[in-house]
Amino acid sequence: MPTGAGLDSQAVRLAMVQRLVAQGLRHPGVQQAFATVERHRFVDSGLVAQAYEDTSLPIGWGQTISKPSVVARMLELLCADRPARLGRVLEIGTGCGYQAALLSHLCQEVYSMERIRSLHERARENLRPLRLPNVHLIFGDGMAGFPSGAPYAGIVAAAGGQEIPAVWLEQLAVGGRLVAPAELTPGRQSLVVVERTAHGYVRNVLEAVLFVPLKSGVA
Ligand code: SAH
Repeated sequence: MPTGAGLDSQAVRLAMVQRLVAQGLRHPGVQQAFATVERHRFVDSGLVAQAYEDTSLPIGWGQTISKPSVVARMLELLCADRPARLGRVLEIGTGCGYQAALLSHLCQEVYSMERIRSLHERARENLRPLRLPNVHLIFGDGMAGFPSGAPYAGIVAAAGGQEIPAVWLEQLAVGGRLVAPAELTPGRQSLVVVERTAHGYVRNVLEAVLFVPLKSGVA
């Protein structure tokens, strides 16, 4: 516990959940996940005091942990009108592992990929004390998805490219849903939701967002 920062983590975390609810977060499972996972465990000790503010924070190697309201929006889109617990979910961009920890409470299995080895290892360290047996961290380029876990009930990306990679759509189960940022129009990154139905794919382009770039290869 970050006693030096004077944080009563439980109370501060519940206050964060109340703010997310006030901003429109409805899904009870997502609320519960935010109330459970200690975000301060995923940021550098110097940033612990800001861990429950609605702000993105640097996690090293030029990457950031998204602000809670954005993560809440992504997870709610992924889980809305679906079974209480999703099946297998693929996350592209493990980063510090925070969203993977949230997902572990919302689905049966989480496969989370990270292309920066140091971040992948950092996430492993962050997650180890939480003992979440359904989180599988994979070091590799998420542009290719992760065929071994497919088909997925959900795919969620924390980094955005120009398009949604075709393999992600192929790895989505029929009835599954993908939530990812993409710059479909140059200069404007938007949140994109794709549903796979028995008859094909249905794509919805939502609000403008600002995620880090989806990069190919590993580092
Ligand atoms: N969900 C993360 C957010 C991390 S930011 C969290 O809770 O902390 C997005 C991450 O996507 C970065 O760590 C970046 O390295 C990673 N990323 C970008 N392109 C990628 C790719 N092709 N495959 C896997 N990870 C990728």
